Amino acid sequence: MDTTTQVPIVNLQAQYHALKAEIDAAVARVLVSGRFILGENVERLEEEVAAYCGAKFGIGVASGTDALELSLAALGIGPGDEVITTPFTFGATTEVIVRLGARPVYVDIDPCTYNIDVSAIAGAITPRTRALLPVDLFGQMAPRDVLWQIAQRYQIYLINDSAQAIGAEQNGLRVAAVGHTTALSFYPTKNLGAFGDGGIVLTSMEEIAKRVRQLRAHGAQGGPYFYRVPGYCSRLDEIQAAILRVKLPHLDEWNERRRQNARRYFERLHATCAVLPETAPDNLHTYHQFTIRHRQRDALQRYLQRHGIATAVYYPLPLHLQEAYRNLGYRPGDFPHAERAAQEVLSLPVHPELSEEQIDYVAAMVQQFEEEHRQ
Ligand SMILES: *Cc1c(COP(=O)(O)O)cnc(C)c1O
Repeated sequence: MDTTTQVPIVNLQAQYHALKAEIDAAVARVLVSGRFILGENVERLEEEVAAYCGAKFGIGVASGTDALELSLAALGIGPGDEVITTPFTFGATTEVIVRLGARPVYVDIDPCTYNIDVSAIAGAITPRTRALLPVDLFGQMAPRDVLWQIAQRYQIYLINDSAQAIGAEQNGLRVAAVGHTTALSFYPTKNLGAFGDGGIVLTSMEEIAKRVRQLRAHGAQGGPYFYRVPGYCSRLDEIQAAILRVKLPHLDEWNERRRQNARRYFERLHATCAVLPETAPDNLHTYHQFTIRHRQRDALQRYLQRHGIATAVYYPLPLHLQEAYRNLGYRPGDFPHAERAAQEVLSLPVHPELSEEQIDYVAAMVQQFEEEHRQ
């Protein structure tokens, strides 16, 4: 393959093309119906995604970020409260805690899975701790059973940020089977992506479901213009829900393709210096990202870019060192595993639409980089 070959990090056009007739028809039905907000598609999708993820109730909201914020708000988390979470994640995970006036308390990651180091959580608990907010990073679930035991022992909430992990399993259970709430994102590049923003809160507790439902529509109850609490304007719209309902039946097949792609990378990269992603025992990974570590990460990324391969760094700066969260008072060195990961991780294209030739080309270029940069 020559150097003009382009390997994109995602290929949303290809996915649309494969389902075009069905998606176009579903969108057209919504347009003709005249019902654009909180209609039948949203209701069905809520049931379908809840059932798929192992929860009783689903509440469609405007984004994954809102799914997290409405979860925290529904559980009454606010000023004076502490929420234990990880510094190695997308900014939204911390942002929602801060927006509600609560304080994020970070725990370092397990350097093998990039998920929260559950053995360090007990040491971070104080009388003000109200919730755990772990992230299922890159498509692999954080250890639910241990997290649930901790939540029970300290009588605090477990809120899962599963924005990257729809379809993942642990001990045969899906993302929303354990916990008080689970937040998913339908951002276009997620494993199940809409054609715009969207998200959902999942829970098996009816009282929590009721509160989230109330919050997403201005806090109204017993009629649209009777407000119980100050709420949000955060709804999933019918067009997005209709598109997601066409895509959901294909999700398992797409996730299986991601795993096949990952296996092909494993076969071709095992002899390189790249540290390959680990799957903890009894987990089914969904490879939202195929994230390797490399000591010469930046040079490797530039090299791949020059050879037409798009890659991404998730995430280049841990949240405890971000300007936005400087007032939390953390310092470099506080979370060494997160800080080191931020310097070494590189996510390679792994989306379901990749061809075997593209994967082989990426792997060959990683090898070629190492041959040319032997130290
Ligand atoms: C994508 C993502 C979110 C936020 O989802 P949006 O739909 O973009 O608001 C939250 N947490 C994690 C870990 C994510 O990857």
